[in-house]
Amino acid sequence: MFLEIRELEQKPIRFEQSLAVGVIPFDSEFEQQSPVVASGTAELHTSTEELRVQGRVQVSLRMECDRCTEPFVQNIDEEFDLIYVPAPVTAPGAEIAIGPSDANVGFYDGPGLELNDILQEQVLLALPLQRVCRAECKGICPACGQNRNETACQCQEQKTDERWSALKNL
Ligand SMILES: [Zn+2]
Ligand SMILES: [Zn+2]
Repeated sequence: MFLEIRELEQKPIRFEQSLAVGVIPFDSEFEQQSPVVASGTAELHTSTEELRVQGRVQVSLRMECDRCTEPFVQNIDEEFDLIYVPAPVTAPGAEIAIGPSDANVGFYDGPGLELNDILQEQVLLALPLQRVCRAECKGICPACGQNRNETACQCQEQKTDERWSALKNL
């Protein structure tokens, strides 16, 4: 859905979207399990040309656990409140001065903004840095390669034992 500035100059746009799997491309490391559901409003402040996009986005993505590599489903449910201003027109190569207070401000081009791009970005930002199937996931044993959630291997203890026996043999 394109958020058109010309339309926004007349009135705010309310959006209510359910985008089928694949409409918004995600990285191939994620397998989309549900439509992207989004709702919210886009509002243009005509005096400042600030475009404010507020809403909520939900999707379920299947991915691999960073620790045990087993697939699991991460449910994303994220609220957002974003400000966009017209992209600055500057001479090529000129530095764009962005103050610290503007760090979270995005830009739009003349005709407007693609809502799907905003939703894609918000979903990717909402992903946790560490993707684990569950907080207490024990991961893969680096010594024997077994999934320690399924099998309690003895590798750690054996190593300690060997060190102690080596000391004893001195
Ligand atoms: Zn795991
Ligand atoms: Zn092991």
